[in-house]
This record gives sequence, C-alpha cells and structure tokens, in this order.
Amino acid sequence: MLKKKKDAEGQSGKVMWKTLGFMLKTAWQHRPSLIFVYLVRLVADVASKLSSIILPKFLLDEIVLFAGGAELSQHIRNAAFYAGLIVVINLAASVLNSISANCKATISEWFNEYFERMLSDHAMQMDFEHTEDPKALDQIGKAKEGISWYSGGVIGILDPAYNVAMNLTVLAGVVAIIIVTCPLLLPLQFVSLIFITVLNARVNKIEAESYKELAKINRVFSYVLWNLADFQYGKEIRMYESADMMSHKAELLGMDLTSVWRSNQYKQRKSSWKMDIINALRDGISYFYIGYLAIKRTITIGDFSMCISAASSLYWSLNGIVISVQEIMKKCNYASEYLKFLDYPAAMPKGSKAVTGEQHIVEFCHVSFRYPRTEKDVLHDINLKISSGEHLSVVGLNGAGKTTFIKLLCRLYDVTEGEILIDGVNIKEYSDEEYRKLFAVVFQDFQLFAFSLKENIVLGGEEDAERVKEVLTLSGLYDEAMKLKNGMDTMLYKGFDEDGTDLSGGQRQKMAISRALYKDAPIVILDEPTAALDPVAEYEIYRQFHSLVGGKTAIYISHRLSSCKFCDRIAVFADDTIKEYGTHEALVRKTDGIYAKMFAAQAQYYVENA
Ligand code: ADP
Repeated sequence: MLKKKKDAEGQSGKVMWKTLGFMLKTAWQHRPSLIFVYLVRLVADVASKLSSIILPKFLLDEIVLFAGGAELSQHIRNAAFYAGLIVVINLAASVLNSISANCKATISEWFNEYFERMLSDHAMQMDFEHTEDPKALDQIGKAKEGISWYSGGVIGILDPAYNVAMNLTVLAGVVAIIIVTCPLLLPLQFVSLIFITVLNARVNKIEAESYKELAKINRVFSYVLWNLADFQYGKEIRMYESADMMSHKAELLGMDLTSVWRSNQYKQRKSSWKMDIINALRDGISYFYIGYLAIKRTITIGDFSMCISAASSLYWSLNGIVISVQEIMKKCNYASEYLKFLDYPAAMPKGSKAVTGEQHIVEFCHVSFRYPRTEKDVLHDINLKISSGEHLSVVGLNGAGKTTFIKLLCRLYDVTEGEILIDGVNIKEYSDEEYRKLFAVVFQDFQLFAFSLKENIVLGGEEDAERVKEVLTLSGLYDEAMKLKNGMDTMLYKGFDEDGTDLSGGQRQKMAISRALYKDAPIVILDEPTAALDPVAEYEIYRQFHSLVGGKTAIYISHRLSSCKFCDRIAVFADDTIKEYGTHEALVRKTDGIYAKMFAAQAQYYVENA
C-alpha cells in the first residue's frame, strides 16, 4: 500500500518535471522574451517585498528616537529618506509588474492559439482507427481542456514556477531577519505550514478526480450542444423535431455536470474551513510572542514591526512555495494529458518505403478483418489480384464488406490476418504519406468543407485553375458552378459567408468526383459515387470516367449493376467473402449465381419502369 503510494508520488513528480521542462522549452523556442519578462518581475517583486519589511523598521526607529527627544532635523531627514525609498521601490515594482502583465497577456494568447493548432494538426495526423476509439476521443478531450483552461498552458504553469523562485528568494531574506530578531517564530510557522500543505493537497486531489469525471461528461455535452447550433444538422433537427430531444439530453448532461461540481465544492469546503482555523491560531500565537519580546525590550519598536511583517511574510512565502508547487503539480498533471495525446501510440506500425513507378499491381492474400473492439470478422479469406489499369467493380448487398475492403486497401485499418501487397510489397512497409498518394477515393460518406468550391477540389494539391475547370466540366458541374455569384470561389454552406451555397446531393457527389479526378492518382476508387445522381447524370459520369480513368486502375463500388458493364472484372461480396468473380458476361451466364440474380432483378425493374 505504502509502496503503491510512493510509486504514484514518484510518477506524479516525473510528470511534473517532464511537463515543466516541456513548457520551458516551448516558451524558450517560440517566445524567449517571456523568460526575460519573468526575470524583470523577479527583481522588482523581491525588491518590493523585502524593502517593505525592512525599511519601515528604520522609519519607525527614527520616529521613536525623535519622540524620545532626539534632535529634530536629522531624524526628519532620515525618516523622509526611508519613506521616499519605500515609495520609489514600490512604484517602480508596480510599473514593471503592469508592463510585464501586458506582455504576458499577449504571449499567453499566442500560446493558446499555438496549442490549439498543434492539437488539431495532431488529431488530423492520428491513425484513422483512433477516430472511432472512445479512449482516443476522450484523450483528445482531456488534452484540449488540460492544456487550455485547466492548466492555463505555458503561462498557467510558468506563473506558479515563477512564484516558487520569487518566494524562495524572499524566504531567504526573511529567514535571516527572523533568526536575528525573533528565532522562535520559525518552528511555529513550519508546523502550521505542514497542516496547511496536507489540507491543500486534499483539495487538489478532489479537484483532479472531478476533472476526469467532468472531461467525459463535457465531451458528450459539447457534442449535443454543438449539434443543436450547427447549420449542417439544421434539416434533421427541424424535420424530425429533435430540438426538444437534444435540449433534454443537454439538460440532463448539464445536471450531471452541476452535480459533479457541487459534490466537488462540498468536499473542498470542509478542508478550507480547517485551513482558516489553523491560520487564525498561528497568527494569534505569533503576535503574542513578538509583543512579549517588545515589552521586555529585547527588540525595538522598529524590530517589532519588522518581525510582524517578517512573520507574515515567512508564512506567505512558505505557503506560496507549497501552494505553487502543488499548483505546478496539479497543472502539469492536466497539461500532461496534452503530452500524452502527442505521444498517443500509433494504432498501426509505420513503414518507410517509397512507392515507385506508374504501374501498380494490387493483391489481397488470405485477408481477414474484424473491426477493433468487435468479435466477428467482417471479411474472411479475401484473395484478389488487380492488375495495373484494370477496372474492377465491387458489388454486394449492404453490409457485405465492400467499403471495409476499400478501407483496408487505403490502409485506414490494418488487416487482422493475411496481407495486402502492392507491387509484391506488404503495404505496411510503405510510408503512409507515400502510400496515400496512390489513391484518389470518393468515399460513400465523403465530406465537403465550408471552404470555396475550388478549395474543396484542390485540398492538399497545387492550385491550378485550368485543371479545376477541367475536372468540374468532366463531372458535369462546371456550368452550374459558373452560375453562382462567385463562381469557383463560392463558399460552401452559409456558416461563414452569406453568399455561400448549399449543394444538392447530386452536386455534392459531382464535387467529390471532381476532387478525386483532380488528385490524378494512379488508383481511382469510387464507393457508390452515383447514388445521388439521376440516371442521365450517372450514365454521363460512367461514360466520361471510363475514358478519363482510362489507363489507371479503378475500383467501383456500385449498386447499379448497369455500371459494372464498364468494368473488366466484377467481385461479388457476400457472406463476408468474395463469392463470385469474373467478367460481366461470365457472371450473367451463371443463372443461379448471386450476380446474375441481382442483375436480372434490376434489369426487370428498368424494363418495367420504361
Ligand atoms: P458495405 O460497404 O458492403 O455496405 P461495410 O463494409 O460498410 O459494408 O460494412 C461491413 C460490416 O462491417 C457491417 O456489418 C458493418 O456494420 C460493419 N462495420 C462497418 N464499419 C464499422 C466500424 N467502424 N466498426 C465496427 N463495425 C463496422
């Protein structure tokens, strides 16, 4: 038990030093002026604190001497000098403090934005698998809150570190004064401090525990609130009258948050009362002891005043150190969630090989796959070879595993068994960045961003207005785009721009297809790219695509089997595997086959409709 506690303490000490080191390094790398600001403050604060303890003693002693009948002019001159010195030092300190506070505020704002940028950059680089892992999502939430308002980031952590340095310097001066004038005060202050430290540690522990609980509730709470206000969800919320349901959910979560806060406050209050009582007792005993020394004339009236200030300063410096160390530990603990997130282990091992050449052969060898945190394979023993330039159609009922097959090929997940080879090399050996250059994919649930039409097409590529025009023409969207007020520069959605546009389902799909064409990658994958298109537009897309994709390898997932005629081979997915494989003609001939039946059913539908 004791060993466990010691290990935990050692662990939190390590976390503190690591995080503190990280913050200092980050400050030094990006805003070194911050360290200079702290140094100036240190000189100003120490001078102001020590002078306001020592100088009043001399001032008071001059007054007492004068009251005792000494010569007037000399003592007035001395008293005026000490009073003037106190005023000048305090004024200089307060001017320097206010300048440094302004500098700190600007720097703090910069660091807030910096950490947000780093967080979102890292979240975007994370393995895809983590994006649906509740643990990883919780970690993002903890990192976000931990580095911002729970720890206060660089300033939030360097401020208490500065307080420790400043209080230690003041403490050295104050201890020297007390040893010379009223030495018994030292043990009294230390004893009271031990009690205060224990109580304060308890308060911090309560807060840290509630933080973990709050992070989880906050993530759901923000999601529900965000949905309520988000333009994209507007239609669902109105048409399915879900606003009340969402509000109710938010209200319940809000109640959970309040109850965690309330119980946290109640537990903390008990400890703060005890701290108030200890403080009052200590002050009473100190005053009595120093007063006793003055009455016995062991010390002068000036010393009496200096001792009172020194005793209070000793306590506040020690207290400041302890509280600041605890604050650093607490804040480093919160901020370390950010470091944990930056170090979040990769879900998949990373390779480093570059993909070379223009022609690529794709092979699935005995591939089986089950999603993380699930029990059953969704794909089992998949074997398939796609030659360079081949057009493969992937068909099957909903849930047959077609999209999963694509996700595995794109290495959004790693196979559970078997291997996927490109040009004879296991895809795990390629560098992610290089590997993803191979594919231009239109996912079933593709996303368009609230950027301009052009930006949505170019995304990470080099901007070439002519090519944007070309791909928009190929997908059949160019004429419609040109009718918009700002043409290709029109913003999508109205969230950030009144002149923004909201596209129809078909137009959105054409945008996604344009984006894939723009990437000009050697392997093109379309996962149900035409589901939202009318038959004429669909026919046009396939006709154009076939000639456009031309020599490239292409994989189409489609429910419209008429589109399969355009492909060299068809793979029919059923019962977690590839059940049929061959050309359209060969598969249609197998009259009791899955493909033949599906094709006949659809053909009949079209004939009936015609
Ligand atoms: P298809 O594209 O053929 O409609 P999918 O590949 O999308 O089928 O899905 C295959 C199976 O995998 C389905 O049973 C689906 O519920 C399951 N599945 C899909 N995505 C996930 C996921 N992220 N986590 C767990 N199961 C999933």
